Amino acid sequence: MEVIERPVDRVARLRRLELVVETDDEAAGCPSCGVLAVGHGRREHFAADAPCFGVSTIIRWRKRVWRCPEPACPTVTFSEQHPFVPARANLTARAVVWATDALEHDDTTVAALARHLGVDWHTCWDAVEREAARRLARPGRLAGIRALGVDEHVWRPSKVGAKDRAVTGVVDLTRDEHGNLHARLLDVVVGRSGTAYAAWLQQQTREFVDGIEHASLDPFRGYANAIRDELPDSVAVLDAFHVVRLGTQVVDEVRRRVQQDTLGHRGFKDDPLYRIRGLLCRGAEHLNDRQLAKLNRCLHAGDPSWEVTIAWHAYQQLRATYQASDPAAGRRLAEELIATLPTCPVPEVARLGRTLRSWQTHVLARFATAEIGAGRISNGGTEAVNLLIEKVRRLAHGFRTFEHYRLRILLTAAGTRRYRPRPRLDP
Ligand SMILES: [Zn+2]
Repeated sequence: MEVIERPVDRVARLRRLELVVETDDEAAGCPSCGVLAVGHGRREHFAADAPCFGVSTIIRWRKRVWRCPEPACPTVTFSEQHPFVPARANLTARAVVWATDALEHDDTTVAALARHLGVDWHTCWDAVEREAARRLARPGRLAGIRALGVDEHVWRPSKVGAKDRAVTGVVDLTRDEHGNLHARLLDVVVGRSGTAYAAWLQQQTREFVDGIEHASLDPFRGYANAIRDELPDSVAVLDAFHVVRLGTQVVDEVRRRVQQDTLGHRGFKDDPLYRIRGLLCRGAEHLNDRQLAKLNRCLHAGDPSWEVTIAWHAYQQLRATYQASDPAAGRRLAEELIATLPTCPVPEVARLGRTLRSWQTHVLARFATAEIGAGRISNGGTEAVNLLIEKVRRLAHGFRTFEHYRLRILLTAAGTRRYRPRPRLDP
């Protein structure tokens, strides 16, 4: 019996698909003198296209070469041009859009895309880099922003002590007309200081600066100064995400201290406080009956002086201020906390109280407007952007150059992806 190979098998057998293409251009004028050129044969130009039928696809473009017949003209021969494969390009315009879109919307890497395209890493990235820079330069990307957030993170954890280890990210926290938040990363600059943030703000246009109504910040003085100096007309607000994180840090510190005081060693897997280290940092409203029972049981066993329990309650109250039904109720709760926490007998909780008191204006500013007021948990933005950044860094196994890192996280966290805002405050 004769086996007839189907076209699909033939493609699968190939390592790559090669498409031979030609244009139907019949005539061309010399780019120097405009005289009608005469044909001078063809030259092949190979370029990787977006993958097709599950294999890498190569365009073999049989490019026309033209010759200028005018003897006095400096141009002797020239080859035809087409926007689909720009001059000397290794990738077709379609392949560049395909790869850049994948980095923007999917969780993938340059190495994976290069493999699909059948080109090496640098060939892929060089083309994507230009396209990414072009997308980020789009006018209107920074238009209409009313709420601005700022956050710092370490982009190169392995470079201990390096000056450019920490970077400052600027986040758009503007809500749409329905009150939904689709946070996006606007830019990232080297340094973890108010100077870095202020320098970025100084580079922005007058319209941008004047449009900012609210600027949120984490409890780091430098950012507050930058907002005061560079965004004088905006209301500075302490970001809920960072306030709540201060709360979980306190719970954690008290747990570890009590663990040492009572058992004389750091937490082991059967120690009651160690067993609930995760549960302690969750919002009480997210705990089911079984988890609450475990929390009670372990606190009863491991917290004889009630210190962890007190810290946990303070943390829950802190969360509650951001979940109050209306801004006025949230403000009352916050004022109460600021008044009472500094006198708490648990030193870590008292310290949190003093921190909140020193930031009183910025903590309470949140409740002054309905826009970002209580009942609207607005820490989701900073958190969602941080998660995306973290994911990119893990996928890429780190980055060597800041410029590459910047483009990659700006592409991913540009706000073009759809994500569901997370209705929780856990940092
Ligand atoms: Zn000519």
